[in-house]
Amino acid sequence: MPKGRHGLRRRLIDALWLHRLGAYMSYMADCCCSPPPLNLGPPKQTAARRRALWAVLAINAAMFAVEVAAGVAAGSASLQADALDFLGDAANYGISLLVVGMALRYRASAALVKGATMGVFGLWVIGTVIWHVWAGTLPNALTMGAVGVTALLANVASFGLLWAHRHGDANMRSAWICTRNDVLGNLAVLLAAAGVFGTGTGWPDLIVAVIMALLAIQGATVVVRHSLGELRSGSLLQASI
Ligand SMILES: [Zn+2]
Repeated sequence: MPKGRHGLRRRLIDALWLHRLGAYMSYMADCCCSPPPLNLGPPKQTAARRRALWAVLAINAAMFAVEVAAGVAAGSASLQADALDFLGDAANYGISLLVVGMALRYRASAALVKGATMGVFGLWVIGTVIWHVWAGTLPNALTMGAVGVTALLANVASFGLLWAHRHGDANMRSAWICTRNDVLGNLAVLLAAAGVFGTGTGWPDLIVAVIMALLAIQGATVVVRHSLGELRSGSLLQASI
């Protein structure tokens, strides 16, 4: 692999990325992965709506598994980082379906488990990045691209299902913001794949992965702090009765 030829071009591409990713980070601030979980409407949901939610849950859970496996197989940390979003979204749909009508204690506990899981997974992605830097591996750009496109289609399909069973403007807005952020994440992976392909280095993959993982950890911290607060105020309320 000739190194000099890539030097300047790589630095230019990296600079472009950091700028684009800065904009991406500000978009992610209102990610669907932060509480409240999607505002998917009242606990009483129609059968058709519940079916749609189960379908979206299945799509997101499956894509989480696919991206984790493909990330490991292709040596791509950004695929693993993108999987984090599918995990968070699957958890949100699961919470919407199973615990949204339950007492605050259960909802807060479910959110706590979700936040903690995402935090640990985010740290695992950071660990993977460190390992890739140390080992100097080159991810498979073709696999990254193929899985990135699949993830994009999965998010568009999820949005279509939610759109067909929307309840009011507020729900649609949150589903739209969620899908927009998800698609931006998928595009970041595709950009990383193009960057890896163009530069012949793993850096674009690692930069995207670190930013996505840090955002996920930040989101997870908010969820954990929020749910701990709810659990604490809930037990205080119980003690005062
Ligand atoms: Zn999402």
